Amino acid sequence: MEKTIDDYIFENFPEEATCPICLSNTNKMCVLVPIYGTDNGRIIASQPVHVECLLDRVVYYPDCRTIVAYPEIS
Ligand SMILES: [Zn+2]
Repeated sequence: MEKTIDDYIFENFPEEATCPICLSNTNKMCVLVPIYGTDNGRIIASQPVHVECLLDRVVYYPDCRTIVAYPEIS
């Protein structure tokens, strides 16, 4: 079955989770980001992240084809 944007983007942020970028659980649109090292070959754990936070912090490194979203350093 083909995935749609609704499989990745969620209108509500989970109450029990914390966005790793802004460190809040403000109820805003979020995306589930796979957690490195948790893949068991079938499923992978994922972390809810606010869409706005992710897009505000994302950087692309073309030399290594890597995309990274940096949390705010305070
Ligand atoms: Zn956030």
